[in-house]
Amino acid sequence: MSRALPTQIPVLSVLGNLPRARAADRLSAQRVAQVQSRLLRRLVRHAYARVPYYRDSWDPAAVAAITGPADLAGLPALDRATVNAVGPAGLLADGHTVATTRAARTSGSSGMPVTLHYSERELGYLRASYLWDLLACGLRPYDRIGYFRVSGFRRHRLERLGLARNVHVDTSRTLDEQVEMFLAGRPTFLRGFPNAIASLVGELKRCGITHHGVRAVVFGGESLADAARAEVLEYFGATGHEVYASVEAHTIARSCPHGSLHLRSTDVLVEVEHDDGTVSVADGAGEILVTRLRSDAMPLVRYRLGDRVVIAPNDCPCGVRQTPVVRAVQGRVEDRIRTRDGRFRSGDFFASLLREVTGIRQFQFVQRDPGAVQVLIVPALGEPGPELARRARSALADAGADFEVSVRLVDRITPEANGKIRLVRAIRSVTDRPPPAGPA
Ligand SMILES: [Zn+2]
Repeated sequence: MSRALPTQIPVLSVLGNLPRARAADRLSAQRVAQVQSRLLRRLVRHAYARVPYYRDSWDPAAVAAITGPADLAGLPALDRATVNAVGPAGLLADGHTVATTRAARTSGSSGMPVTLHYSERELGYLRASYLWDLLACGLRPYDRIGYFRVSGFRRHRLERLGLARNVHVDTSRTLDEQVEMFLAGRPTFLRGFPNAIASLVGELKRCGITHHGVRAVVFGGESLADAARAEVLEYFGATGHEVYASVEAHTIARSCPHGSLHLRSTDVLVEVEHDDGTVSVADGAGEILVTRLRSDAMPLVRYRLGDRVVIAPNDCPCGVRQTPVVRAVQGRVEDRIRTRDGRFRSGDFFASLLREVTGIRQFQFVQRDPGAVQVLIVPALGEPGPELARRARSALADAGADFEVSVRLVDRITPEANGKIRLVRAIRSVTDRPPPAGPA
């Protein structure tokens, strides 16, 4: 028997789960480890017993050996190509179907969108943790929340009472239209991609509009020049927060009042795969693997999100959050730039060179040929362009002899269809071209 999915977000299950989402932020390190191990063992048992793909591909001995997070490395990692190849038929747990679950599609910034499925039961917790993120960042009941997204959210019943109302600023529309949507909705609390919010602020400033109704901004989803963040917060007179989240894993980390990006360790188990192939639980630099611990309908175990991260043990003086700290999300694994001799450098290497240059609102690296990089730079308002270009060129001179670097000043950088701006935009042939075919 299948029940119809509710047409509106069920508020009671969200509010019922809120205390649990909130409590997770205040657990001692020892308690975090206990909860994490218990949830992990339950998840692995559930996945192995009820999900066809895991049942068929996991080694029973490796499953039996799992007592805690460090043992998880005995199971294979899961990538997007496999999720797409196996599909819902192989990855949905017994008892769930496409019709009885809610689907969400990832943004496709990896070049390979995937569709995930959630049961209403797990969504009750996921929506609660989403709401808790906003509350922890200072959301108040009568705030109007401005979401900078391509697609809007479904309505919820509390909006009729004037609570937590949504203002959707559709980032796929023109900047003029976005300004119109923003000024019509007058949100007091913003959440979205940094570049989208920074572009809007740039346009508001250019039009000579002052706007002081925004109290807080929650940035998420991509990196942005620190100067641009500061410009956004200064323009609104707002406090800034950061969330590291994805469609697949939901909230992985959120900033505390001291600005440290603490992991949500009892929601998502994070492993880091280092360049030498070894794996650590939530420590060091490398590619992130995520396992959402309260998964139900379609568990993704050791899922390759595609981001490179640097994670360090908790040394934050906040004293509340006891979980490890994400020091950097270094962009996507595929954000790489090719040198003249065919090797790759991470796009973050170039970004780190530009970080010291003031007066930059946005930037992007464009690679047309191996060894040649063009940097697109949007200057901050009132910044003399030629002088900024000179400083940027001089900072990038450290890139060395493997690259020819040019700087181009532009008015804006066009986001991808999903609203994000890629750190590195490679004209496809540079990175993906197969080796030249032999003579036919
Ligand atoms: Zn902290």
